[in-house]
Formats: sequence, structure tokens, C-alpha cells
Amino acid sequence: MKKQEIEYPLGTRPADGEVLKIREGLLWVRMPIPIKGLEFINLYLIEDGDGWTMVDTGLNTGVIRDLWEHIFETHLKGKPVTRLICTHFHPDHMGLAGWIADRWNIPLTMTFGEWTFGRMLYLEGAKETPQFVIDFYTSVGFTEDMLDRVRSRNFNNFRKAMWEVPMGFNRIADGQILSIGQKDWQVVVGRGHAPEHACLYCAEEGILISGDQILPRITPHIGVYPSEPFANPLKEFIQSIDTFMKIPADTMVLPAHNDVFTGFHNQLEFYQNHHQERLDQLLAACDRPMSALDLLPVLFNRELSVPDKGLAIAEGLAHCHYLVGEGELERQIGADGIWRFERTKSIKAAVA
Ligand SMILES: [Zn+2]
Repeated sequence: MKKQEIEYPLGTRPADGEVLKIREGLLWVRMPIPIKGLEFINLYLIEDGDGWTMVDTGLNTGVIRDLWEHIFETHLKGKPVTRLICTHFHPDHMGLAGWIADRWNIPLTMTFGEWTFGRMLYLEGAKETPQFVIDFYTSVGFTEDMLDRVRSRNFNNFRKAMWEVPMGFNRIADGQILSIGQKDWQVVVGRGHAPEHACLYCAEEGILISGDQILPRITPHIGVYPSEPFANPLKEFIQSIDTFMKIPADTMVLPAHNDVFTGFHNQLEFYQNHHQERLDQLLAACDRPMSALDLLPVLFNRELSVPDKGLAIAEGLAHCHYLVGEGELERQIGADGIWRFERTKSIKAAVA
């Protein structure tokens, strides 16, 4: 069979804060994100008998709440939202989960891993940056200037972007079938970008709602953060690619960013090649001990802003940890507390 190229079959997208009908009973909503580089999130509404199932909510801002009220009034055929599913805990996806749940008196439906992590982050906000966060950024090689910036930031960025995360939820899990609008939608869990990210696949419609797990034009962010300093999320992300490859290649994908697209197997292959390329570059650079900060220019050949540096280091570490997991790199902890990564082969050659 000829491979299907990436295409954008709708040829259009909703206006900002507006709605586009993909099919009867399937609406695409586009909401603003005031973060450079992301700019918009796609949210979906599926007609479900006497109501609507909503997938993801957008950030918690007054503007977005007003836009939702307008959509509820004009696009839902006078029917209520009866179920809310959030794909994962990131604030652009579940920032308004508590508000929607209260507004319609409905429960929040999520995987256990995503709800728990979101609820936990919501509760743990603190005025002072905790010491373990400083320790983590010391380990990755942050300079004193950069550490001062971490110290001066409040530790409640997550909380600020969220309406209160509901105290309870309805659990969904990988492989579970949900009946939405009398059609079967299968929960397909992807990992790496978030701990237990739910995607929704409807074979009958030939549609996959992919959240941030599969995005056209860009690669999902895969990073290591202070709460789990030795995590290996890239391994999980690469393993998830095999899971999604089993979904038919002609499926139309409804992603959380950019546009609705087809040909997603190409994008999955692109992810494999892209990460392999980066892993090769890292491995080549680690013929001597290198910190995550030292490795930034190897992975990113452009000037990075300070916030971008944080994300880039998280990505770089994810690649280092993958190689540590495969036995290709070794982590050394210096007297200065900084982690440095070196090729196992270089170490062995030096010893021999
Ligand atoms: Zn995300």
C-alpha cells in the first residue's frame, strides 16, 4: 500500500475562540494560549445523546471562560455538557476542568496518573522554591545567575494557571471502551509527554483525538523535571510510538495543537528519526564528561531565551537518561554536585 503523506484534509481551522464543525456531532474549538510558541489549543466536543462530551478545556483565564459561555449558548443545540474528559494534566488541557465540572455539575473523567499528578501539583504550590528544586538545577549545571532566577520564582506557576482541580474523578484506563454518541471510543494511553496521557480512538469514525501525544509539524515536549529527577520519559515515548502504529494509517488525527491531519504514521516515523538523530549527536559529544547545560549547543543550534533554556535542558536530560538506560552513557556526580554524562565506551577505552 502506498504510504499516506501528511495532509490537512479540512483545509481550514476555526477562528480564534470559535467553532468548526468537522462532521455532524463533532466540533473543533480553538482557544488562545498566552504562551509564545504554543499560541492555540484545539479542544473537541462530541455530541452524545442528550448532551455533549467535551475533550480538554483550555487554560484558566477569564477570556477563555467567556469564550466557552458563548460557545455553550450558540453551538450546543441547547444541550448541556454531560461529560468532561481531559487527556492529561497540563494547564492548557485541564486548566478549567474544575470550572466546567462545577458549571455543568458533572464529574471529571481522566486516567489515574493524570488526575493524581494534576491534583498533586495544584496542592503543592509554595511561596519559596524548595531546596530539592535548587538541587536538581544545580545537578544539571545551572550557573549561580540561573539558580537565582529559579529561587526568585514562586513555586506555584501551575496553581496560578488552574481553576481548583476537582477532588474526585472518574477513572479511564488504557483499552477501555467509552460509548460516546452511540459509537465506541477506545482509550489509548500514550506516555513520555505526560505520565498516562489518554487519547481517544473511534474506529467507526476513523478518528483519533491525540491530545499532545501526536502533533503535526512539531514534536511533543519530552522532559525531565525536579519531581522525578531520574525519569526516562523518552523511553516511554518511543515505546508508545509502537502502540500508535497499530492504529490504521488512514485515521484522521485531531491533535491539541496545529491542524487536523492525516498520514500520522509519517509523523510517528519522523519522531523516531528525530530522536535517534539527537541521541546520536549526544553520544558523539559525550566522548568526555558533559553536563546537561554543556550539551545544549549540541542539541539546539540557536540562541535560547531563558525560559526556553529550561525546556531545552529538560529535553536534553531526557535524551541523556535514555542513553544511560541503554547502557551507552554513564552519569558521574562531580564534587561540585553537577551530573556529567560520558560515553561508556570512552570510559572503558581509558581504563583498558
Ligand atoms: Zn501537554
